[in-house]
Amino acid sequence: MTAPELTFLTRDPAVRQAYAADASGLALLPEAVARPTSAPEVVALMQQAAATKTPVTAAGGQSSMTGGSITDQGTLLSLRGMARILDIDPVRRTARVEPGILVGDLKRALAAEGLLFAPDPTSEEEAALGGAIACNASGARSLRYGATRRHITGLSVVLASGEQVELSRTRLEKNTVGYAAIHDPIDWFIGSEGTLGVVVAAELSLLPLPERVTGLGLPFPGDAEALAFVVAAREAMTRGVIAPRCLEFLDAEALAVVRSQEGGSNWLGQAFVYTEEESPGDAELDFDRWLALAEAHGAMAEDVLVFDNDATIRTARLLRHAVPATMLERGHAFMADGGRRLATDWAVPYPRLAEAIGIARAAVAEHGVVTPTIYGHAGNGHPHMDFVARNADEVHAIEETIAAILRPILAMGGTVAAEHGIGKIKHRWMSMQLSAQQRAVMLGIKAALDPDGLMAPGNIF
Ligand SMILES: Cc1cc2nc3c(=O)[nH]c(=O)nc-3n(C[C@H](O)[C@H](O)[C@H](O)COP(=O)(O)OP(=O)(O)OC[C@H]3O[C@@H](n4cnc5c(N)ncnc54)[C@H](O)[C@@H]3O)c2cc1C
Repeated sequence: MTAPELTFLTRDPAVRQAYAADASGLALLPEAVARPTSAPEVVALMQQAAATKTPVTAAGGQSSMTGGSITDQGTLLSLRGMARILDIDPVRRTARVEPGILVGDLKRALAAEGLLFAPDPTSEEEAALGGAIACNASGARSLRYGATRRHITGLSVVLASGEQVELSRTRLEKNTVGYAAIHDPIDWFIGSEGTLGVVVAAELSLLPLPERVTGLGLPFPGDAEALAFVVAAREAMTRGVIAPRCLEFLDAEALAVVRSQEGGSNWLGQAFVYTEEESPGDAELDFDRWLALAEAHGAMAEDVLVFDNDATIRTARLLRHAVPATMLERGHAFMADGGRRLATDWAVPYPRLAEAIGIARAAVAEHGVVTPTIYGHAGNGHPHMDFVARNADEVHAIEETIAAILRPILAMGGTVAAEHGIGKIKHRWMSMQLSAQQRAVMLGIKAALDPDGLMAPGNIF
């Protein structure tokens, strides 16, 4: 019997080309592209893939920094055609949503109902919900709300066999059955980078939309002052003195990018911290507390910026997002010469961030590579370093510099990848962090769910 024709599957060269690149700067041409519009179509695709042993790589917005959403093996499965909000329950504060909706569109639709989906990758206008789940995306506000995992209560997943499974997060407060790693199978899929199954729907846990948010931009004379302020702010947060939902750092290079954008010329200083705090609608931000803490760490008080409405906060966020977006564009300009943007997403326990950035800067100087922008989620001990390599030799030199940075980062109790996952480009870094036993456990889960290795080959493993 011949397999039924999958009308949403194409081998058209132009369509294949349209899905051949993501934000990693790499390009891989898939053999076919599937664009289903329903879960039963994904089931049919996976059943056929299992029967013919055809690899399948899921993709959402293709904003992966690590080549996770591209492949030259088998079928590229775009979920963008499955972008419906299936249900919103304002009483339970939950929503059931398909994976292809962009995170930004989802958040706006929920905000109209007075609800907040808290994860906020700065790429939310490019990233789809399924991609955010598969990467356990986080962002600035993860300081307060944690990463995507915390906000997912259910998943509908199509496995490599074509079987569709429904998973709900356990509500148990006590459980001693088996290893902790198997207690909540939903957690296998969140952060699995498409290697275990295809997310076709998710149940989200939502929060009430904050009534009022105020943003502050705090300029400092240098990294040392700004990073000491971040540690002090975290400690003041623990004591309940202030309640930041983000603490974002920008170094002088990142600030230069911001100042080159429209509306960014008043982001002054040699280093900068952007923060936001929520308050009830009738309560003003306690500006004096913030200013006292910032001034105690050398902030340039006369140049502090206040963002006190939706429009100015949106502008501030766009300026912050302009840093990775601009570095990505600069990298693209050198692709014909073998260059590209290279980004790190290592993290350390936040009190050690200044020390870690110092080590990173020393390694950059020692290896003589181009100066990166250093910016990002300082409140979580998690900066980004974005380098622009102009050719293949510079790519190699920067990769060696990154290796030299990651060894001491791991020795500080850090991670090589706090946000962007492993994808196809960080295998080397992952094996620096995980023991042989940890890798064997992961391979065991992979073999149990995808014995033929059909899901997202090359990602993670
Ligand atoms: C400028 C810029 C800024 C960024 N900022 C952040 C940030 O602040 N925080 C952050 O966490 N990330 C950030 N990223 C990285 C990226 O946006 C996130 O990882 C995002 O979650 C990826 O979503 P996506 O829909 O684009 O996924 P894709 O790139 O399409 O795919 C990513 C991975 O998810 C898998 N996948 C996609 N959909 C599914 C599905 N339905 N089922 C199973 N697997 C699936 C893919 O196979 C792949 O492994 C940034 C990227 C850029 C370009």
